[in-house]
Amino acid sequence: MSKTLTGACLCGAITYEITHTEGDVADICHCAECRRASGAASLPWVQVPPGRFRVTRGAARGYASSPHATRWFCGNCGTPLYMTDNTGRSVGITLGSLDQPEAVRPNVHGWMSEHVSWAAVEDLPRYDKAPPYDF
Ligand SMILES: [Zn+2]
Ligand SMILES: [Zn+2]
Repeated sequence: MSKTLTGACLCGAITYEITHTEGDVADICHCAECRRASGAASLPWVQVPPGRFRVTRGAARGYASSPHATRWFCGNCGTPLYMTDNTGRSVGITLGSLDQPEAVRPNVHGWMSEHVSWAAVEDLPRYDKAPPYDF
């Protein structure tokens, strides 16, 4: 089963669409970079192959947050929207920017080694570092 999901930034200048299939890795990331980028204790993502993601309006600004990855956000309102990796293996989309944020349920915690102790952690499998993104 796959379904098309749409998303947008806060100001609406950028919209996108993904095809989500059951079994996609949806990770709540506790890494320090996601914390800074979002201003929140953790950031939930869903990972899809690049072919299942497309921007449908506007253009996001990119920031190379590491030698391997670029974070894309709205240059007007600042919403973190998606992240690409240099190998083109997957695109991570922020669950909070989906029009229906409950359409994808997180199924794993990543980067627990950098978790902030006061933030509650739902009972899901946990990884010290990046969870496997297996499609
Ligand atoms: Zn915006
Ligand atoms: Zn992260």
